[in-house]
Amino acid sequence: MTNKDYLRDAFLRYTKISSQSVRHGEGLPTSEGQQQMVMHLKNELHDMGVTDADLHSNGILIAKIQGNTDAPAISFMSHVDTVDIGASPDVHAHIVEFTGDDFYLDKEQKIQFKVDDYPSIKAHKGDEIFVTDGSSVLGSDDKAGVAVMMGLARYLTTNNVKHGDVYLAFVPDEEIGLKGAKALDIRELPVKFSYTIDCSDGVGSFSYETFNAAEANITIKGVSIHPGRAYHILVNPVLVANDIIESFSDKDTPEYTKGYEGYYYFYSIEANPMEAKLNLNIRDFDLKKFEKRKEHVLDIIAKIQKKHPKAEITVDMYDVYANIANYLSQDKKPIELVEKSLANLGIEIQRAPLRGGTDGSVLSAKGLMTPNIFTGGYNVHSIFEYLPLAALEKSLDNTIEMVRILGEGELK
Ligand SMILES: [Zn+2]
Repeated sequence: MTNKDYLRDAFLRYTKISSQSVRHGEGLPTSEGQQQMVMHLKNELHDMGVTDADLHSNGILIAKIQGNTDAPAISFMSHVDTVDIGASPDVHAHIVEFTGDDFYLDKEQKIQFKVDDYPSIKAHKGDEIFVTDGSSVLGSDDKAGVAVMMGLARYLTTNNVKHGDVYLAFVPDEEIGLKGAKALDIRELPVKFSYTIDCSDGVGSFSYETFNAAEANITIKGVSIHPGRAYHILVNPVLVANDIIESFSDKDTPEYTKGYEGYYYFYSIEANPMEAKLNLNIRDFDLKKFEKRKEHVLDIIAKIQKKHPKAEITVDMYDVYANIANYLSQDKKPIELVEKSLANLGIEIQRAPLRGGTDGSVLSAKGLMTPNIFTGGYNVHSIFEYLPLAALEKSLDNTIEMVRILGEGELK
């Protein structure tokens, strides 16, 4: 069986297991379907002869393909959940042969894929392309990554390739705050080269710059009293909260920033006469600016506390994930390996800062530098998500080439 035939079947097989994560779900994983996914993967790996696989009760599956040389170990990671955008949790994926013209995802429902709306598809004329019937996302984010890793396992167990230990980590609940990666103990991945294979904008995209991210949960306790008796007694937490928000620039926000600019994002507020709670996201690519932003939050809180001495303002601020590039100065080899592999395959590299976080930014914050490489999927988190089979195959070719380069000791 060719890689292409394997990937075609494997991807369709995985899309049939509904595995959305649940935003306010309890525990890990937050859905039964994710547990089914990892159990299914463990069985498939077992059938390939990969028996060294730990499936944890939190839905994290870590498998090891034993090396046959003492080349450096490498790990790949993907997530088994798909995103809930309010569409159907069940995915009906099929393949269209793309002629270059608009086509229907569902003719009866008149859901049409318009080429001019998503011109990236023009480069895939003549390809087989996975799409849905328009009732759900496709879930190439990140079942394409899962299929690639399984394709790598199959390739390595059926071909004579020199390679070091290869670790495959499958995690749940990426889409609801990188929860699976946060729960992962990086001691289970004893590697210097670690990558996520996750949503990306097409063939060749490679990301090792993400936000540094922190969250601040601010609680304001006021003094409540009947407003008729409030003179010089009432301390209104709603107004204190307003003072805090007003102290930030209204242009330093997600809707007014782009590229490498950071921001503050007040994303929730809850208040009653006794207490107000504010939740703030803090984001910046630059580590120094990021630290300054956190100080700025504390300065503002201190200033507002002074203005309202009878209010009790507390802030719980913590880092959520880190820019993968913060770890670049320590070792550039994980980057060079991808550059070399893509160059060998004649794939043009596309570098882009990610205005968000990945599972890799969580692992990087824990000390394991983990850039992200493409799956081949496009339009993720949309019912117009699509995945060209040839692009998926290129993602697999790339992982195979990376393992080969390390195995042959070609990375100097
Ligand atoms: Zn993803």
